[in-house]
Amino acid sequence: DSGERLQKVLAQAGVASRRHAEQLILAGRVSVNGVKIAVLGHKVGIEDHIEVDGKPVERSERLHYYLLNKPVGVITSVSDPQGRPTVLDLLNDVPVRVYPVGRLDFDTSGALLLTNDGELAHRLMHPSYGVEKTYRVWVQGPVGINALENLRQGVLLEDGNTAPAKVERVSGVSKFNKTKGKPLEILEVTIHEGRNRQVRRMFAAVGYPVLKLDRVRFGHLSPGNALPPGAYRALSKEEIKELR
Ligand code: URA
Repeated sequence: DSGERLQKVLAQAGVASRRHAEQLILAGRVSVNGVKIAVLGHKVGIEDHIEVDGKPVERSERLHYYLLNKPVGVITSVSDPQGRPTVLDLLNDVPVRVYPVGRLDFDTSGALLLTNDGELAHRLMHPSYGVEKTYRVWVQGPVGINALENLRQGVLLEDGNTAPAKVERVSGVSKFNKTKGKPLEILEVTIHEGRNRQVRRMFAAVGYPVLKLDRVRFGHLSPGNALPPGAYRALSKEEIKELR
Protein backbone atom coordinates (compact mmCIF):
# COMPACT_ATOMS: atom_id res chain seq x y z
CA ASP A 1 0.00 0.00 0.00
CA SER A 2 1.02 3.61 -0.51
CA GLY A 3 1.83 6.36 1.93
CA GLU A 4 4.42 6.75 4.61
CA ARG A 5 4.66 5.24 8.04
CA LEU A 6 2.82 7.23 10.67
CA GLN A 7 5.86 7.54 12.94
CA LYS A 8 7.95 8.90 10.07
CA VAL A 9 5.32 11.48 9.19
CA LEU A 10 5.08 12.55 12.84
CA ALA A 11 8.86 12.87 13.04
CA GLN A 12 9.04 14.88 9.82
CA ALA A 13 6.36 17.22 11.13
CA GLY A 14 8.59 17.92 14.12
CA VAL A 15 6.29 16.30 16.67
CA ALA A 16 9.01 14.07 18.12
CA SER A 17 11.92 11.86 17.14
CA ARG A 18 10.89 8.73 15.26
CA ARG A 19 11.47 6.59 18.35
CA HIS A 20 9.39 8.88 20.54
CA ALA A 21 6.69 9.05 17.86
CA GLU A 22 6.45 5.26 18.05
CA GLN A 23 5.93 5.55 21.79
CA LEU A 24 3.19 8.15 21.27
CA ILE A 25 1.43 5.78 18.86
CA LEU A 26 1.73 2.78 21.19
CA ALA A 27 0.43 4.91 24.05
CA GLY A 28 -2.75 5.48 22.05
CA ARG A 29 -2.25 9.23 21.74
CA VAL A 30 -2.37 9.41 17.95
CA SER A 31 -5.42 9.33 15.68
CA VAL A 32 -5.81 9.27 11.90
CA ASN A 33 -9.06 10.63 10.46
CA GLY A 34 -10.60 10.43 13.91
CA VAL A 35 -9.63 6.80 14.53
CA LYS A 36 -7.07 5.95 17.21
CA ILE A 37 -4.05 4.12 15.77
CA ALA A 38 -2.14 2.31 18.52
CA VAL A 39 -0.11 -0.11 16.40
CA LEU A 40 3.06 0.51 14.41
CA GLY A 41 3.15 0.09 10.65
CA HIS A 42 0.08 2.14 9.78
CA LYS A 43 0.66 4.17 6.62
CA VAL A 44 -0.78 7.58 5.90
CA GLY A 45 -1.07 9.72 2.78
CA ILE A 46 -1.00 13.47 2.35
CA GLU A 47 -4.82 13.63 2.58
CA ASP A 48 -5.03 11.95 5.97
CA HIS A 49 -5.77 14.06 9.04
CA ILE A 50 -3.52 13.25 11.99
CA GLU A 51 -4.00 14.32 15.58
CA VAL A 52 -1.79 13.89 18.66
CA ASP A 53 -3.62 14.27 21.97
CA GLY A 54 -6.51 15.71 19.98
CA LYS A 55 -4.36 18.43 18.37
CA PRO A 56 -4.01 18.49 14.58
CA VAL A 57 -0.50 17.88 13.23
CA GLU A 58 0.60 20.50 10.71
CA ARG A 59 2.41 18.92 7.79
CA SER A 60 4.22 21.02 5.28
CA GLU A 61 4.49 19.25 2.01
CA ARG A 62 8.01 20.41 1.12
CA LEU A 63 11.10 20.40 3.26
CA HIS A 64 13.21 23.53 3.30
CA TYR A 65 16.79 24.00 4.49
CA TYR A 66 18.69 27.27 4.91
CA LEU A 67 22.11 28.29 6.12
CA LEU A 68 22.11 31.65 7.90
CA ASN A 69 25.15 33.61 8.99
CA LYS A 70 23.67 34.74 12.28
CA PRO A 71 24.76 38.25 13.23
CA VAL A 72 25.49 39.25 16.81
CA GLY A 73 22.43 40.81 18.47
CA VAL A 74 19.66 38.41 17.49
CA ILE A 75 18.42 35.42 19.44
CA THR A 76 17.91 31.90 18.12
CA SER A 77 14.71 31.18 20.06
CA VAL A 78 11.66 31.77 17.95
CA SER A 79 10.14 34.24 20.40
CA ASP A 80 11.59 36.38 23.16
CA PRO A 81 9.81 37.73 26.24
CA GLN A 82 12.15 40.74 26.12
CA GLY A 83 11.14 41.46 22.53
CA ARG A 84 14.63 41.17 21.07
CA PRO A 85 14.91 40.40 17.35
CA THR A 86 15.05 36.71 16.47
CA VAL A 87 16.75 34.90 13.60
CA LEU A 88 13.32 34.43 12.02
CA ASP A 89 13.04 38.21 11.61
CA LEU A 90 15.97 37.99 9.18
CA LEU A 91 14.24 35.58 6.78
CA ASN A 92 12.05 37.44 4.34
CA ASP A 93 11.29 35.16 1.42
CA VAL A 94 10.99 31.83 3.20
CA PRO A 95 7.61 30.30 2.34
CA VAL A 96 7.25 28.03 5.38
CA ARG A 97 7.87 28.12 9.10
CA VAL A 98 11.42 26.93 9.75
CA TYR A 99 13.22 26.42 13.05
CA PRO A 100 16.84 26.86 14.09
CA VAL A 101 18.75 23.62 14.63
CA GLY A 102 20.35 24.18 18.02
CA ARG A 103 21.34 27.53 19.47
CA LEU A 104 23.85 30.28 19.19
CA ASP A 105 24.15 32.91 21.91
CA PHE A 106 22.85 36.44 21.41
CA ASP A 107 26.47 37.62 21.27
CA THR A 108 27.74 34.80 18.99
CA SER A 109 27.71 35.02 15.19
CA GLY A 110 28.01 32.39 12.49
CA ALA A 111 26.62 29.28 10.85
CA LEU A 112 23.06 28.39 11.79
CA LEU A 113 20.96 25.77 10.01
CA LEU A 114 17.21 26.43 9.78
CA THR A 115 14.70 23.88 8.54
CA ASN A 116 11.14 22.61 8.77
CA ASP A 117 12.50 19.04 8.64
CA GLY A 118 11.71 18.16 12.22
CA GLU A 119 13.18 14.71 11.97
CA LEU A 120 16.57 15.93 10.79
CA ALA A 121 16.55 18.71 13.40
CA HIS A 122 15.85 16.24 16.21
CA ARG A 123 18.63 13.97 15.00
CA LEU A 124 21.25 16.70 14.55
CA MET A 125 20.51 18.10 17.99
CA HIS A 126 20.75 14.74 19.71
CA PRO A 127 23.98 14.60 21.76
CA SER A 128 24.85 11.13 20.48
CA TYR A 129 24.78 12.32 16.87
CA GLY A 130 27.54 14.82 17.50
CA VAL A 131 27.76 16.99 14.41
CA GLU A 132 31.10 18.83 14.44
CA LYS A 133 30.99 22.55 14.99
CA THR A 134 34.00 24.80 14.52
CA TYR A 135 34.25 28.11 16.33
CA ARG A 136 36.68 30.95 15.84
CA VAL A 137 37.54 32.37 19.24
CA TRP A 138 39.10 35.76 20.08
CA VAL A 139 40.89 36.05 23.43
CA GLN A 140 43.61 38.09 25.06
CA GLY A 141 46.75 36.08 24.40
CA PRO A 142 49.19 34.67 24.32
CA VAL A 143 47.38 31.45 25.21
CA GLY A 144 49.76 29.14 27.01
CA ILE A 145 50.50 25.59 25.90
CA ASN A 146 49.01 24.19 29.12
CA ALA A 147 45.70 25.91 28.46
CA LEU A 148 45.69 24.54 24.90
CA GLU A 149 46.34 21.01 26.11
CA ASN A 150 43.65 21.37 28.73
CA LEU A 151 41.09 22.50 26.16
CA ARG A 152 42.07 19.61 23.89
CA GLN A 153 41.79 16.94 26.53
CA GLY A 154 38.64 18.21 28.24
CA VAL A 155 37.83 20.87 30.79
CA LEU A 156 35.85 20.34 33.96
CA LEU A 157 32.73 22.52 33.88
CA GLU A 158 29.78 22.65 36.31
CA ASP A 159 27.99 20.11 34.10
CA GLY A 160 30.93 17.72 33.83
CA ASN A 161 34.03 17.24 31.71
CA THR A 162 33.97 18.32 28.10
CA ALA A 163 34.86 15.74 25.46
CA PRO A 164 38.22 16.01 23.69
CA ALA A 165 38.26 18.94 21.28
CA LYS A 166 40.42 20.07 18.39
CA VAL A 167 42.09 23.39 19.12
CA GLU A 168 44.34 25.26 16.70
CA ARG A 169 45.99 28.64 16.68
CA VAL A 170 44.78 30.72 13.75
CA SER A 171 46.84 33.83 14.24
CA GLY A 172 49.92 34.25 16.31
CA VAL A 173 49.68 37.07 18.79
CA SER A 174 50.14 40.43 17.17
CA LYS A 175 51.83 43.45 18.66
CA PHE A 176 49.50 45.59 16.60
CA ASN A 177 46.23 44.06 17.64
CA LYS A 178 45.89 44.63 21.33
CA THR A 179 43.08 44.66 23.85
CA LYS A 180 43.74 46.39 27.15
CA GLY A 181 47.44 46.38 26.38
CA LYS A 182 47.52 42.66 25.71
CA PRO A 183 47.79 41.03 22.30
CA LEU A 184 44.72 39.50 20.73
CA GLU A 185 44.93 35.85 19.76
CA ILE A 186 42.58 33.96 17.48
CA LEU A 187 42.02 30.21 17.84
CA GLU A 188 39.73 27.66 16.26
CA VAL A 189 38.05 25.01 18.35
CA THR A 190 36.03 22.08 17.02
CA ILE A 191 33.56 20.32 19.30
CA HIS A 192 30.72 17.91 18.75
CA GLU A 193 28.88 18.57 21.98
CA GLY A 194 26.50 21.48 22.27
CA ARG A 195 26.12 22.50 25.86
CA ASN A 196 24.85 25.93 26.76
CA ARG A 197 27.60 28.56 26.25
CA GLN A 198 30.08 25.72 26.06
CA VAL A 199 32.94 27.41 24.22
CA ARG A 200 32.75 30.53 26.39
CA ARG A 201 32.74 28.39 29.53
CA MET A 202 35.63 26.19 28.33
CA PHE A 203 37.88 29.17 27.63
CA ALA A 204 36.87 30.98 30.82
CA ALA A 205 37.71 27.81 32.76
CA VAL A 206 41.31 27.87 31.52
CA GLY A 207 41.70 31.59 32.16
CA TYR A 208 40.94 33.15 28.78
CA PRO A 209 37.53 34.82 28.69
CA VAL A 210 36.14 34.92 25.14
CA LEU A 211 35.99 38.39 23.61
CA LYS A 212 34.31 37.40 20.38
CA LEU A 213 32.88 34.12 19.06
CA ASP A 214 31.98 33.13 15.51
CA ARG A 215 30.86 29.69 14.35
CA VAL A 216 32.68 29.16 11.08
CA ARG A 217 31.39 25.65 10.38
CA PHE A 218 28.38 23.51 11.26
CA GLY A 219 29.08 20.01 9.93
CA HIS A 220 30.31 20.71 6.42
CA LEU A 221 28.33 23.94 6.15
CA SER A 222 30.25 27.18 6.21
CA PRO A 223 29.02 30.72 5.49
CA GLY A 224 32.47 31.66 4.15
CA ASN A 225 32.85 34.98 2.41
CA ALA A 226 29.72 34.49 0.32
CA LEU A 227 27.38 34.99 3.29
CA PRO A 228 28.02 38.12 5.34
CA PRO A 229 26.36 38.31 8.78
CA GLY A 230 22.59 38.49 8.39
CA ALA A 231 22.59 36.80 4.96
CA TYR A 232 21.25 33.34 4.24
CA ARG A 233 20.87 30.91 1.38
CA ALA A 234 19.04 27.69 0.60
CA LEU A 235 21.15 24.54 0.81
CA SER A 236 21.93 22.64 -2.38
CA LYS A 237 20.58 19.12 -2.92
CA GLU A 238 24.07 17.73 -2.27
CA GLU A 239 24.39 19.64 1.00
CA ILE A 240 21.02 18.32 2.16
CA LYS A 241 22.03 14.77 1.28
CA GLU A 242 25.25 15.11 3.27
CA LEU A 243 23.29 16.18 6.35
CA ARG A 244 21.02 13.13 6.26
N1 URA B 1 29.48 28.00 22.59
C1 URA B 1 29.20 29.17 23.17
O1 URA B 1 29.77 29.52 24.19
N2 URA B 1 28.30 29.97 22.59
C2 URA B 1 27.66 29.66 21.44
O2 URA B 1 26.85 30.43 20.94
C3 URA B 1 27.95 28.41 20.87
C4 URA B 1 28.86 27.60 21.46
